[in-house]
Amino acid sequence: MNQLKSKGKPNGKKPAPEEKKLYLEPEYTKSRITDFEFKELVMLPREIDLNEWLASNTTTFFHHINLQYSTISEFCTGESCQTMAVCNTQYYWYDERGKKIKCTAPQYVDFVMSSVQKLVTDEDVFPTKYGKEFPNSFESLVKKICKYLFHVLAHIYSSHFKETLALELHGHLNTLYTHFILFIREFNLVDPKETTIMDDLTEVLCSSSGSSSNGSGNGSSNSAGAQNHVKER
Ligand SMILES: [Zn+2]
Repeated sequence: MNQLKSKGKPNGKKPAPEEKKLYLEPEYTKSRITDFEFKELVMLPREIDLNEWLASNTTTFFHHINLQYSTISEFCTGESCQTMAVCNTQYYWYDERGKKIKCTAPQYVDFVMSSVQKLVTDEDVFPTKYGKEFPNSFESLVKKICKYLFHVLAHIYSSHFKETLALELHGHLNTLYTHFILFIREFNLVDPKETTIMDDLTEVLCSSSGSSSNGSGNGSSNSAGAQNHVKER
């Protein structure tokens, strides 16, 4: 009697849930470690120089994102993450001469973190002494840093949210992400096209406590074109 002709009958054995974005589940998006008004927190305080403000915030985000990544870094390996993927997009690293480098996610993150580390500790780029001037390239460097830090955050969500959940650090991740997005928006530091890939999450997290009533949506099906499979050499 139970021929599996299937078609109309999902038989509970579909490999679909892989495609589902766990991090968009309302029970997880609700989780934060604080309910600060980040919108106000990111605004330039009156007596502070803009560059100083960008410098101190960027440095802090670098440290926090690095820390957040380190909590799941043991799961982000050359095998689990053969490319720096976020959802279905792949990022490549470009070396100093602009040459495209194909690399695994942990390599990419390592490139990001070590080059940012180098910049934020370079007294000529991020001067710490009062009165010392910022270089002309400062803003463009900050933009670059923010773009790469965004990639790292997005990778944590798209590839390591499960592990983050298991560690119960999703509240931290959501809080950090919200703060970071509001900061880069406030100062137009990252091209919105660059962040589109995470717009679904951004909308939920950054439009503050917008309850959960915009359910349903489109997330389902359509996993057809979305191969993420390993290439057989
Ligand atoms: Zn990874």
